[in-house]
Amino acid sequence: MPKPTVRTRVAPSPTGDPHVGTAYVALFNYCFARKQGGQFILRIEDTDTARSTRESEAAILRSLRWLGLTWDEGPEVDGPHAPYRQSERGNLYREYANQLLEAGHAFRCFCTPERLSKMRDAQRSAGQRPGYDGLCLRLSPAEVQSRLASNEPFVIRMKVPEEGSCTVEDLLRGPIEIAWNTVDMQVLLKADGMPTYHLANVVDDHLMEITHILRGEEWINSAPKHKLLYEYFGWPMPALCHLPLLRNPDKSKLSKRKNPTSLLFYERMGYLPEALLNYLGLMAWSMPDGEEKFSLQEMVERFELERVSLGGPVFDLTKLGWLNGRWIRENVTDNQFAERVCRWALNENYLMKLVPLVRSRISVLGDLGFLAAPFLSGIITITPGQLMEGNLDHDAVSVALDLALMRMESVEWKKLEIENMLKGIAEAMGVKLRDLLRPFFVAISGSPVSVPLYDAMEILGRDLCRARLRHALALVGKPDSPEKRRWLKAIREDEPAQ
Ligand code: GLU
Repeated sequence: MPKPTVRTRVAPSPTGDPHVGTAYVALFNYCFARKQGGQFILRIEDTDTARSTRESEAAILRSLRWLGLTWDEGPEVDGPHAPYRQSERGNLYREYANQLLEAGHAFRCFCTPERLSKMRDAQRSAGQRPGYDGLCLRLSPAEVQSRLASNEPFVIRMKVPEEGSCTVEDLLRGPIEIAWNTVDMQVLLKADGMPTYHLANVVDDHLMEITHILRGEEWINSAPKHKLLYEYFGWPMPALCHLPLLRNPDKSKLSKRKNPTSLLFYERMGYLPEALLNYLGLMAWSMPDGEEKFSLQEMVERFELERVSLGGPVFDLTKLGWLNGRWIRENVTDNQFAERVCRWALNENYLMKLVPLVRSRISVLGDLGFLAAPFLSGIITITPGQLMEGNLDHDAVSVALDLALMRMESVEWKKLEIENMLKGIAEAMGVKLRDLLRPFFVAISGSPVSVPLYDAMEILGRDLCRARLRHALALVGKPDSPEKRRWLKAIREDEPAQ
């Protein structure tokens, strides 16, 4: 039998900013497929309707294109397995869930969220691992029918063996054994008829004829459920390969609290896409000759899974900066450099965002440099003195920055929301808005007289603002005064429940 064509995919969920981890996983799938003349597919996993947005999806697509990780099939490209957006795949998942139900591999669960939450609390306090206790597994068919007749909401859960263990083969790690009693009876279809990640992912990987799944190691524990689903359906399982997670310098999982994670940040900072891809490649792979600088094409040509290393790769901005500098110095001519700068910021699209902010504030074009500088910079140079020049004292500046850093994660990154967030902080702290904003002007724009703050923050993006606010907070320090604790407490109580 001829070997099937290699088909890989990246399957991001469009919730929030495009993540550097998505690019990392996409890169490895891209190289693996391309090296073998196969196909690389992009699938949007947007079944979490409450958190998925079209805006986030558009940003993912744009960022992957910016990096040059183009897909053979997927949104905006289409292909034989369209649609590639799970929310558009209709009743497909429901039909497959029903198939499992009929075959006795799944069951309806009528437990209410209240019961499940009490059950988990009880399990936790008894020192047990929280997981479904199987109550509805024991319902008689007559009981199920009567509950269905009275329109009780239900989910569909998969059955899972109670004893023994599951062995999952990983191309990099070899066999991984996971005991069944650590695997939950996973919900496959939610009460609203939407599939969970597990069902949709398995069904689509099968229907889209994916042969190899390269994904982050955080999915290892899901692999037994997926393996079982493939068995229940009688489908061959794609080969699995779990890539090492990107890590913060302290070795914890890469998180925006410790490291910028949004691809938009790296673009706005002016990293070259070639350098970022090169760096992401280096995170878990090396050239046979040890050369650290390589292009996407070179990585494709030399790509071997055997050269993937499993150590915890630390995402280090200093090293990325060094590599980026090499790319700028060694790989672009003066003309190309000028062209890159235009593409980065001196383009109509970006300038048109700035024009309405700067035009009314200048008398000659030469005034532009000062006002536009924050939009053409990464982390800006400021002093603690500048941050403290206004009416707020040291503790208040520190608290205000700290609070903004906490709150900014839960607001939509639009100027109106940013304004409301800062007004809320001023109110909670009992200080005048004008006084509160002053250190923010300095932190974000480098000067208390600049373009409107909220607009600037929206344009710069959440990650760059976070980086600048964090830089400012590091400069003033985080005093642990009773006053600060009182403010934080009052404001936390005020915080809407997540
Ligand atoms: N939607 C999942 C994610 O956001 C995909 C995981 C997988 O590759 O199976 O990472």
